[in-house]
Amino acid sequence: MMRQYFEVKSKCSDCILFFRLGDFYEMFAEDAVKASELLQITLTARAKGADRIPMCGVPYHAARRYIAKLVAAGLKVAICEQMEAPGNNGGPGPGIVRREVVRIITPGTVLDAEALEATQNNFLAALVWTDTGAGAALLDASTGDFYAVEGPSLAGLMEELGRAEPRELLVMDSELGSEELARFRALFPKTPSLAALEPTAFEPARAAAYLRAHFSVAGLDGFGLGSSPLATAAAGAALRYVKETQRTDARHVDRVSLWQRGTTLVMDEASRANLEILRTLRDGGRKGSLLGILDRTVTAAGARTLGRWLSAPLCALPEIEARLEAVDELRQKGVVREALTAGLKRVADLERAVARLATNTGNARDLALLAHSLAALPAVEVLLQGLSAPLWTSLAGPLGEFGPLAEKLGRAILDEPAVGTGDGGMIRPGFDAELDALVSLSTTGKAFLLELELRERERTGIASLKVRYNRVFGYYLEVTRANLHRVPEDYLRKQTTVGAERFVTPELKDHEEQVLTAEERRGVLELRLFEELRSEVIGRAPELRAAAQALAIADVLRSFALCAAEYSYVRPTVDASDVLEILGGRHPVVERMLDGVAFVPNDVRMDRQRAQLIILTGPNMAGKSTVMRQVALTVLMAQVGSFVPARSARIGLCDRIFTRVGAADNLAQGQSTFMVEMTETSNILHNATARSLIILDEIGRGTSTFDGLSIAWAVAEHIHDRIGARTLFATHYHELTDLSREKRRAKNFSMAVKEVDGGVVFLRKLLPEGASRSYGIEVARLAGLPPEVVTRAREILANLESGEWDESGRPRVAHARVQADPNQLGLFVAPVAALPPPEPPAPPPSLFDSTAQQVVDAVTATRLEVLTPLEALNLLAAWQKLLKDRVP
Ligand code: ATP
Repeated sequence: MMRQYFEVKSKCSDCILFFRLGDFYEMFAEDAVKASELLQITLTARAKGADRIPMCGVPYHAARRYIAKLVAAGLKVAICEQMEAPGNNGGPGPGIVRREVVRIITPGTVLDAEALEATQNNFLAALVWTDTGAGAALLDASTGDFYAVEGPSLAGLMEELGRAEPRELLVMDSELGSEELARFRALFPKTPSLAALEPTAFEPARAAAYLRAHFSVAGLDGFGLGSSPLATAAAGAALRYVKETQRTDARHVDRVSLWQRGTTLVMDEASRANLEILRTLRDGGRKGSLLGILDRTVTAAGARTLGRWLSAPLCALPEIEARLEAVDELRQKGVVREALTAGLKRVADLERAVARLATNTGNARDLALLAHSLAALPAVEVLLQGLSAPLWTSLAGPLGEFGPLAEKLGRAILDEPAVGTGDGGMIRPGFDAELDALVSLSTTGKAFLLELELRERERTGIASLKVRYNRVFGYYLEVTRANLHRVPEDYLRKQTTVGAERFVTPELKDHEEQVLTAEERRGVLELRLFEELRSEVIGRAPELRAAAQALAIADVLRSFALCAAEYSYVRPTVDASDVLEILGGRHPVVERMLDGVAFVPNDVRMDRQRAQLIILTGPNMAGKSTVMRQVALTVLMAQVGSFVPARSARIGLCDRIFTRVGAADNLAQGQSTFMVEMTETSNILHNATARSLIILDEIGRGTSTFDGLSIAWAVAEHIHDRIGARTLFATHYHELTDLSREKRRAKNFSMAVKEVDGGVVFLRKLLPEGASRSYGIEVARLAGLPPEVVTRAREILANLESGEWDESGRPRVAHARVQADPNQLGLFVAPVAALPPPEPPAPPPSLFDSTAQQVVDAVTATRLEVLTPLEALNLLAAWQKLLKDRVP
């Protein structure tokens, strides 16, 4: 048997092998060591001494939970089943049954509800790239969602793939160790696991043929894939991988759609994370994220769709308008909204139920769930048809036509059918006459056995006599040892146990036959009926999936309408202008999290003519980050089709949102804080367009002040002069407010504060002027820094503000304190007492000839403050000429 084990294992060496032995799945050797640790189950051993092999096992009926854990840890699990009953001689050796791997469960192909997050998609991403381009496909086998995309490079596809958060990446096996793949994979915040297929699976022509055969179509143009060979290659490979690992024909995967780049608003990974769209930065939870606020969906498919929408806001005005109109109507019709909520609540996760049935992992419970859900559709359909926005009526379309199927399933399947499909207990009485006859046969047979038991008790006088059943002997009569002397002659002894003997009679055997064959036939017949119903459902998978998607969209729009009504959001005007005007704007998350404090709304007006670059200054904690993020989130919400938290909003379409916020080390990728900051900034400068929205929350803080300020200035200038994107730039470098003197489209804003008794009160109001101070020390005091540190900081600040160096070239910053108390250690210099005697001044370097010296003198003597820029330029030109003309 171990030889058989190792033979199977050698064919799936990258998987944990679940090897079926009777009622257990056993794991051996390294698999056992790894799994026992992850699953926290006991590690034992097979054989002793040199042959000792570590082993552990899980009961087969509880295996799903364990498999889910292993897959969640990024591992693959191969399920190896016994393919025949024990005792058959068809196995590979005496007493050994034939075993085969029937399914490989991987993080990106898992179908079991236990291993899946109901409200999230579970994508497998296939990737293929060449020197001139790259293609990717995203396939969620648990729902049938299937997309493909093509771009100029692998990195160029990151945004599309990143927002889908794939659990597993599929590549050519020849690429597994490649540096390019390692680099790409590291870009994902949750590193996906890896899978590989041979390169032939990725050949465009072969992949296209595979897809054509799967979808039974003559060409792929209908899916938009006709002229996208790399997207096709990736899609073909992804589908093949799912079908091969799951040993399924995946009939529920009924279409693939090409993602056109540029049709959705793009956000890079950092921007998505910074804006806390799907989860918070702090703990990765939903609570506190935009999704956490906007998700009022009542179906799992609705929640999944909302997550996808928020990750891919639209760029097409008609589609945005259609959504806004639908939301607007339902916002006003509270009664319909509530009825729709009630209707949708009755619908279960159709997509995943259909997917389970289509991949042979479903059971009669999925059919029952379909029956109940489909029965709820007519009411929803009527509600949607009663609305007038075209999007609502179009969503009603796919919901019709399921009446007969719902009726049939309802008639066929018990309300709570058995989980297993082999032992009956699934089909309702009255659905199939043959089944009913078998059930009554087995019931009457059982009744007869009860009657026989009574009769035999009477006949023998043994009150404790029982008719019992086990798998080996079938039905038998059990008599306790004390009563053996009463056993009649016609009883045939079958077995002796500790306290009793077991007998049969010809009459009992006759009926056993009847009961058992009836039960067996019932199981077989129920399975056949189940399979027929399942085929009927799978045959209608495309329509069912279309209905499921319509319901999911209805749920998301309903959720938007509810938020709009409950949170006082307004309908934004979204247009092709370059205006961004948010009046009375609020931060959708912060306003809901403030405990008892009213959120202070703010007005932001930007466009590309007068106010393209907003330099935002103001004290720490004043609300700069909040107001900038609220602008970005408002744009995002509007382009998703949601109402927005404002008094009014006009949003000129954005093609991308970039945010650079705060600083975080990315030590795992070997990048320091400053490096991360600069990488993100560089990405913005390379990719932003005039239609983009850029949010910069501090730049250059991770390095020295002068370096940082210079970088911040140059970045701001570049955005203003070259890119022209609408930009909000928060900074503590007050020097940046001078930009507005030079740059026409740069404007200063600040967050208002009031000084009260040496402290500050935050007014949270945006003012159209630069701030004069940062009040960092006041905020530090509020945060509880020790009073002596706060006092010292004030002193140092005063020094800094009054000039930087003293006469002997030492920083003035710590001067006063050092002289006042020589034992107190200053921040920048050692105490005076410990200073070495001052060095005699070094002679000036003899770099200068007399002409150069003249120039130096002239520069020193010039009073810059009285010069106009033109005069200064003329002087500079004159000096340059002097230097160039001099004799060396
Ligand atoms: P720093 O410069 O230190 O990063 P900041 O100016 O960016 O500070 P925020 O982080 O935006 O300040 O705001 C600090 C806190 O102030 C927020 O967490 C929020 O609780 C509160 N706040 C911000 N804006 C408002 C507002 N408009 N109304 C009410 N509270 C607000």
